[in-house]
Amino acid sequence: MTTQKFNFIAGEWHAGEYEIENRNPSDTSDLIGLFAQAGEHQLDLALDAARAAQVEWASTGIERRYTALMGIGEELIKRSAELGELLSREEGKPLAEGKGEIHRAGQFFTYYAAETLRQIGDNADSVRDGIEIDVRREPIGVVAIISPWNFPTATASWKIAPALAFGNAILWKPANATPASAVALAEIIAKQDLPKGLFNLVMGSGRSIGQRLVESPKVDAISFTGSVPVGKGIAAAAIQNLTKIQLEMGSKNALVVMDDADLDIAVTCALSGAFGGTGQKCTASSRLVVHEDIHDAFVEKLVAGTQALKVGHALNIGTQIGPAVSAEQFKSNLNYINIGKSEGAELLCGGERLDMPTEGHYMAPAVFASSTNTMRINREEMFAPIACVLKVGSYEDAIATVNDTNFGLTSGIVTHSLARATHFRRNVRTGCVTVNLPTAGTDYHVPFGGRGDSSYGSREQGSYAAEFYTTVKTAYIAAGNPE
Ligand code: NDP
Repeated sequence: MTTQKFNFIAGEWHAGEYEIENRNPSDTSDLIGLFAQAGEHQLDLALDAARAAQVEWASTGIERRYTALMGIGEELIKRSAELGELLSREEGKPLAEGKGEIHRAGQFFTYYAAETLRQIGDNADSVRDGIEIDVRREPIGVVAIISPWNFPTATASWKIAPALAFGNAILWKPANATPASAVALAEIIAKQDLPKGLFNLVMGSGRSIGQRLVESPKVDAISFTGSVPVGKGIAAAAIQNLTKIQLEMGSKNALVVMDDADLDIAVTCALSGAFGGTGQKCTASSRLVVHEDIHDAFVEKLVAGTQALKVGHALNIGTQIGPAVSAEQFKSNLNYINIGKSEGAELLCGGERLDMPTEGHYMAPAVFASSTNTMRINREEMFAPIACVLKVGSYEDAIATVNDTNFGLTSGIVTHSLARATHFRRNVRTGCVTVNLPTAGTDYHVPFGGRGDSSYGSREQGSYAAEFYTTVKTAYIAAGNPE
C-alpha cells in the first residue's frame, strides 16, 4: 500500500487539497509515498495557530525549551541510520552522506538546546542619575522557513532549532522534491511538549503556497535557502510588509591550487569539494583555479580520481556519487555540458548519461579544462557534478579570478605558504574560507553565510543566529528611593 503523509497544522495532521508523488531518483520505479499539498485556508489556519502558540512559548521557562530541543536532537542522532536511508532514497546522496546529514541535524538541535540556557543579556548604567538599563533579546515572532532539497534535514534543522530556541513559532515549507525527510523531522518535533500550533509543516509548491506564505503580513521573519531568482522574489514580497529576511542562495565557489601545494591534498580537496553530494551543494568547489606550474600534474591526477569515482544507486554500498535529484536538475546538468563544450572548454572526462540496472538520473562526473572565467560554466551555479579548471600564472591572478564573481559563499586555497594563505584568508571576498581543506564541509557552532548574491541578511548558525531570530529591547528603569 502506498504511504500517505499529511501536513502538521495547529497541532494536528491534516490531509491536503491534493497529493504529489515522491519518487526515488536512483530508481524512478520506486514510489516513496504520496504527500499532502496544503491549501490556502490551511496556511491561514497555521498562521493563526502559530501566532497564539508563540505567545505561550515566549513566556515559558527556558528549561522546557531546552528539554524539547534536546529530545529532538537525541532522537535524530539515535535514528540517523534509518532516517539517513530515507533521506538518501528520496534525495539521491550516498547512504553515508544521508546518515551523516541526519546526525548533523541532531547536533543542531542539541547545540541550540544548550543555547537556550545561555540567553544572557546586557545591562548598563544610564547617563542619567538613578536609572539602569537592561538590554535583552526577545523572540521575533512567527517565522517562515523555506528550505531546499539538497540538504533537506540539515538546512531545515539549522533554521528550526534556533527559531524554537529563541522563542519563536514556525511555519516550515520544505522543498517538494524531498517531502519524506520533512515529514520524518516533523513527526519527531510533534512528539515534544510544545504549545499546539507552535510548529507547523505546510507542504506545497513554492510558486503557490510558498509565495502566499512570503506575502503574508502575518509572518514576522522569513529564512530561505535556495536559488537567487527565488530569493530575490521573496525579498520583493517581504519588503511590502517590512518582513525581516535572511536569504542563503547560490554560489560559484573556487578552490585555488598553488604551485607549492601538496598534490595529493589538492586533488583530494578538489574531488570531495566538486563531487560530494553529486555537486548539489552551495559550498561545492565548481571552479578549480590552478597555478600553471602544477596544472598538468594536478589535472592528470584529478581526471584519474574523477574516473575512479563510483556512480550508482544511492543506497548501494560503495556508491560515491548518486543521481541528480530530479529529471529537471539532470536535464540542466547535461545542458551545462553542452554549454561548456560550445564555449570552447575542453571536456576531459565524464558528462555523459550513464545506464544503470535501475532507471535514474545518472551522469558521469565531468572535468572541463581550458576554461575561462567569462564562460557561463564558471559564472552560473550549475549544482552538478562538473568541475572546471582555470589555469593562472600567479597568486595575484588566482585571487583576482576567485573574486571575479557575483557570488561569495566559500573559497579555499591549497598551499604550504603561510604568507599566501594568510593574504588569501584576509582578502578573498567570501563569507567562509578554507586553507588546505575542501570548500565544502562546515561546522555547526560557528556562523555560516556569504557575500554578494550568495547571502542577504544576518548569518546563520552558531550564536550568530540570535541576530535573526530575536529582536533587541532596551529597557530604562528608574528604581526610585528605597526609603
Ligand atoms: P528554488 O529556489 O526554486 O527552491 C528552494 C525552495 O524555495 C523550495 O522549497 C521551493 O519550493 C521554494 N520556492 C520556490 N519558489 C518559491 C516562491 N515563489 N516563494 C516561496 N518559496 C518558493 O530552487 P530549486 O529547487 O528549483 O533549484 C534550482 C537551482 O537553485 C539549483 O539548481 C541550484 O542552482 C539552486 N539551489 C541552490 C541551493 C543552495 O543551497 N545554494 C539550494 C537549492 C537550490 P518547491 O521546490 O517545493 O517548489
